[in-house]
Amino acid sequence: MNRSKIAALLRSGEVGERVLVKGWVRTRRDSKGISFLEVNDGSSLKNLQVVLRNDLPAELHGELGTGCSVGITGELVASPGSGQRIELAAHAVELFGAADPSSYPLQKKGHSFEFLRTIPHLRMRTNSLGAVFRIRSVAAAAIHRFFQERGFHYIHTPIITASDCEGAGAMFQVTTLDLARVPTIEGKVDFARDFFGKSANLTVSGQLEAEAFACALSDVYTFGPTFRAENSNTPRHLAEFWMIEPEMAFYDLTDTMDLAESFLKSVVAEVLETCPDDVDFLDKWIDKALRQSLELVRGETFVRMSYEEAVKILLASGRTFEYPVGWGHDLQAEHERFLTEEHCKKPLILSGYPQELTAFYMRLNDDGRTVRAMDVLVPRIGEIIGGSQREERLDVLRERIIARGMPLEAYESYLDLRRFGTVPHSGFGLGFERLIMFLTGMLNIRDVVPYPRTPKSL
Ligand code: ATP
Ligand code: MN
Repeated sequence: MNRSKIAALLRSGEVGERVLVKGWVRTRRDSKGISFLEVNDGSSLKNLQVVLRNDLPAELHGELGTGCSVGITGELVASPGSGQRIELAAHAVELFGAADPSSYPLQKKGHSFEFLRTIPHLRMRTNSLGAVFRIRSVAAAAIHRFFQERGFHYIHTPIITASDCEGAGAMFQVTTLDLARVPTIEGKVDFARDFFGKSANLTVSGQLEAEAFACALSDVYTFGPTFRAENSNTPRHLAEFWMIEPEMAFYDLTDTMDLAESFLKSVVAEVLETCPDDVDFLDKWIDKALRQSLELVRGETFVRMSYEEAVKILLASGRTFEYPVGWGHDLQAEHERFLTEEHCKKPLILSGYPQELTAFYMRLNDDGRTVRAMDVLVPRIGEIIGGSQREERLDVLRERIIARGMPLEAYESYLDLRRFGTVPHSGFGLGFERLIMFLTGMLNIRDVVPYPRTPKSL
């Protein structure tokens, strides 16, 4: 008999159907010679209740407990209990592997996330982490579908690079030099003798490469691993995370805001439609505002506002904030959350940031003080997407690189894109794990990535 997945049976299994399920026992309860097993196979949050009417065979009696793996054949019957439509009346049970109750760490329910981080190879067997990783998978597929349906090309930008995307973050060095005997020349490391003949590092962003591809394939996106040697231990930073960076030729900033808005709506809608049980579970146990804020993103038109207006609203709010507010000051999460959660009560797109707060490649406005940059802010999180129209004018871009004291020669290929058939183009970036935090209500980024990499922890 072919194995059935529990999600499919709970959805459309019919009473009287003979089936085989395989999975792990979450709990077992014995009552009056009948055993009730809750079996989960990861296909859904919900377990299948299995009822063993006859006394268990003696050899299974001690083994069939929390964490063991089983194959069960039987017949689907209507479930008298509340909460489930059907259950499985077992005819035969095969034990694949026992899980010794004296050492299996997930015996009891209700472990802290801190504890679960110490067992990253087992923690996805819990309801909450299982829900997170199902949602993560659905979101990844939704992102690809969104772009592919719009004719975007998926670009695999390099992981090992020599370029630094304008100091986006501290970098991890990649080297095969013998660290015990580093070759030097004139007192400095002699990278000429390193693997690549020069200093190399793990990528902090694929944007520059994506721009090059957009200037040939028009609409492209990256979706891949990114690395930052972030020294701070925060609940929002990982050393290894995934980033999504679409880049579009012939898009101005407004086109980019439109794309970012429909992108978020589409990913949120797909998660709400595909993972309703997981969202309900997280809404109940992790963050009671989860479903509401997801519905807000799916249903509401995003407010659009200039940075200047936002600063005025913050100044007039009568609030005291920890960080200073005023033209020229960066907006912090507390400001962003006030604007989206309390002032607008909707997702919000801010644009027109002061030139000096932003990266060198952002398109300068005619006022000379602001750039065509935008951030999308959502309730519970603050900034979730950052993007900009890129400076496409060779002379302006060159001036800005020089003005910032950056080495022109490192940007020659980037300048080439402006020398040969330059076009207005734009893009945005978002950290995949930050998006998953928004989609799941999880408060620590370590709990939305399979194996978190953070300082002093691997
Ligand atoms: P932050 O201010 O949160 O450190 P950033 O300004 O350094 O972010 P960008 O350089 O704009 O971020 O990177 C693009 C996106 O990548 C961010 O909006 C965020 O979603 C994500 N991101 C940045 N750093 C990290 C990190 N260390 N771990 C996880 N995601 C990150
Ligand atoms: Mn950062």
